[in-house]
Amino acid sequence: MVYLDNAATSRPREEAIRAYEEVSLEHFGNPSSVHGAGYDAERYLRKARDGVLSSFAVSSTHKCVFTSGASEANNIFITGIAHRFHNRGNRLITSLAEHPSVLRCFLALKEEGYDVVLLPVGEKGAVAPEELAKAMNDKTILVSLMGVNNETGALSDLMGLRDVIRRFPKCFFHSDLTQAVGKLDEPFALLDAFTFSGHKIGSLKGSGALVYRKTIDLPPLLHGGEQEGGVRPGTVDVASAYALSVALALARKEERENGEKAALLRSKLVSYLLSRPDEFVINSPFESSPFLLSFSLLKKKAAVYVEGLSEKGIYVSSVSACSSKRENVSSVVLAMGLSKERAAHAVRVSFAPYNTLEDIDAFIKASDELLKGLINQR
Ligand code: PMP
Repeated sequence: MVYLDNAATSRPREEAIRAYEEVSLEHFGNPSSVHGAGYDAERYLRKARDGVLSSFAVSSTHKCVFTSGASEANNIFITGIAHRFHNRGNRLITSLAEHPSVLRCFLALKEEGYDVVLLPVGEKGAVAPEELAKAMNDKTILVSLMGVNNETGALSDLMGLRDVIRRFPKCFFHSDLTQAVGKLDEPFALLDAFTFSGHKIGSLKGSGALVYRKTIDLPPLLHGGEQEGGVRPGTVDVASAYALSVALALARKEERENGEKAALLRSKLVSYLLSRPDEFVINSPFESSPFLLSFSLLKKKAAVYVEGLSEKGIYVSSVSACSSKRENVSSVVLAMGLSKERAAHAVRVSFAPYNTLEDIDAFIKASDELLKGLINQR
């Protein structure tokens, strides 16, 4: 199997699995319990939390809440800020290219009556600071813009965006860093909040975190427990939190080396796509994450192409799971102002540190075989 869908999820690393196993088997107490086994589990939870915060060098300014993943973390922060600070203003700003766990959260808040602004991203795939500046007003309480786009790998200028936002002291800046953490360095300490997921950085599915300023008092989304500072009730999965902190520390340590490796794989794939200009067009902007590449098929159906690759043991993602009943297009490609055709036939390839140049060779071989055989012209 050649797995090139690591932005969807990735293979966990052994160190994370071992950490999970060790805590599950030997430190399985409930960290809220007031006895030895509880204190022991609580020690591991503290280790995990300290580990996460120090991986981002934000221990003195930020706190960390463990969640079931980035989706939950995004919902907790975005909804929490809107509800807690609605007396300060009701404008909330995000972009059309965000992950659904951000975008739909904003849409739900719009239904509640908030003044929600959804910015397009243009050909660079990310909101430019000047565009954000035009949308800001004194009633803006939250801006949420991702660091790295999960389809195209487009990079946001987080420093530039933050410079705009700091002129509005009532406004918080959140960034969904799910595709950035452990892959690129970001100005973590300058953000009011950021969110990420464990299963994209070599830890387990069902784990993630919200990191936010200590000074922010956030209401819970769910009720019924004082765990995680009262923000996220329910018995904490200490083993998962600990595994996440282990995977994160390793990913941060290996960031540069892994980035260079991914860039090699990506550039080989880019050369292949550029050598077939009648078949492919690249959607990812020139400056983007080395871990992601989005392109569209010009003559063939993306869903059929991706299915054909899958039959050959090559796994990539089609954002267009075309069915006869429902038209499905990439909202990210559309948000860049590209055509509906391009959005309907987009393919995403995403790399992890364990991928090799041989994986790309296998992809190219299978792709060429398929292009020859595919007769279903659009
Ligand atoms: N945000 C982004 C940018 C993502 O790529 C993903 C995963 N597809 C998520 C949020 C959701 O992460 P999780 O699966 O941990 O909820």
